[in-house]
Amino acid sequence: MQHLANTFGCQVGSLPFTYLGLPMGTTKPCIEDLTPIMDRVERRLSAFSTWLSYSGRLQMINSAITPIVTYTLCTIKVPKGFIDNIDRARKQCLWRGNDDTTRGGNLVAWAAVMRPKDKGGLNVINLRLQNDALLLKQLHKFYNKVDVPWVKLVWNKYYVGKVPHECREMGSFWWRDVMRLNTIYRGVARCTLGDGSTVSFWDDLWSDSIMSAQYPRLHSYARNKSISVQELMMHEDLDDIFVLPLSTQAYEEMMDLQNHLVTLEYDDSTADFWTMLWGPQYSSRWFYNHVFSGMASTPYFKVLWKSQCTPRVKFFAWLVLMDRLNTKTMLRRRHLNIQDDVLCVMCNQGADEDIDHLFFTCPFVVQCWTSINFSWDVSLPLAERLMRANEVHALDFFVEASLIAAWELWKLRNDKIFQRRDPTPSLWLVNFKHQCNLQSVRLREDLRSSFCFWLDAFS
Ligand SMILES: [Zn+2]
Repeated sequence: MQHLANTFGCQVGSLPFTYLGLPMGTTKPCIEDLTPIMDRVERRLSAFSTWLSYSGRLQMINSAITPIVTYTLCTIKVPKGFIDNIDRARKQCLWRGNDDTTRGGNLVAWAAVMRPKDKGGLNVINLRLQNDALLLKQLHKFYNKVDVPWVKLVWNKYYVGKVPHECREMGSFWWRDVMRLNTIYRGVARCTLGDGSTVSFWDDLWSDSIMSAQYPRLHSYARNKSISVQELMMHEDLDDIFVLPLSTQAYEEMMDLQNHLVTLEYDDSTADFWTMLWGPQYSSRWFYNHVFSGMASTPYFKVLWKSQCTPRVKFFAWLVLMDRLNTKTMLRRRHLNIQDDVLCVMCNQGADEDIDHLFFTCPFVVQCWTSINFSWDVSLPLAERLMRANEVHALDFFVEASLIAAWELWKLRNDKIFQRRDPTPSLWLVNFKHQCNLQSVRLREDLRSSFCFWLDAFS
């Protein structure tokens, strides 16, 4: 062996080894094999993220940390422990800025953080889901018998004359992992019939409906429930397909089925063509979003993230909407009793400081809103209240103005608590106008001029 190695000028190695940054071996990589990637993530979490705002750290997670693992996710089904590990790092970065000394501070549940922005999350990629979404692409190539060597190899080695998802698991750890996703794939795919060799007659969507659901009684008489469309089409004798005699109802269903099959354009010289429910090509992004498409959420999230405010203000507003801002009542709910009481410091009227009071019903705040002619229907739940106000006020920059106004209220409140600086509505107005002027450069030009014109009216 050494002699051979010398002859070819190479070294004798051993499995597993690292190739293009990934562990290569004949067995499934375990979490230790992926340590180099986890180390890279931790190195990237350098100490400076402590100095970033929440929105800055969010950006760092989405554009610097998550991409490190994407390549791995495209390639293999990663162990759960690996994802847990990366998530721990990402959580740490978002909520504590990689500061090991602070405990707690996970303001919002991680599952909610990982939702898309219009569904109330921060669009931090869900790695488990993304892993599946990326691997499904391989399955799409496989079912469509794309002309690449591994697809041919897998078909010829394991599935000649068989429907792959009706077979027992076969092949390498890699292929088994990918093939296990077939239920998910077939749930979002349909087959345009060619020779029918890749598709299950009873269980796949290759016609207007799934046969086992359309003909349930007949299905119960089927000899081979995993038969492919191709195989069924080749049978001439019904004895081979069904256990006879059929019941009356099953017989009626069979007549129906026969009529249906006669109208079918079956051409065994073409290949099956698998398309996705949303279009001809598989796209991991589409799949990823599709998973969330049925999730209910308030339309205000979309309005919020589309607004032209700075990311910092938007992050603050997101915390308010999620009811996760650290008001005094929130700190009490979290059992972090840093202050002596939970009372509002803006009005000194003995009211509890919660989001509703602090931003809407506090007499101090009402004075502020009135000074810029904004009003709120506080009988509505928060998200609806914001949507309604947006419609009622009919200002193109209403969202931006109201977010900045709330942000300046929050800053005034913090100044009172931490710097003992007394708030006044006129101080708020000065700060509000100043902040609006700063952020107005982010607006479209025509919008900016009407915004500034509107601002000038208040003094
Ligand atoms: Zn108050």
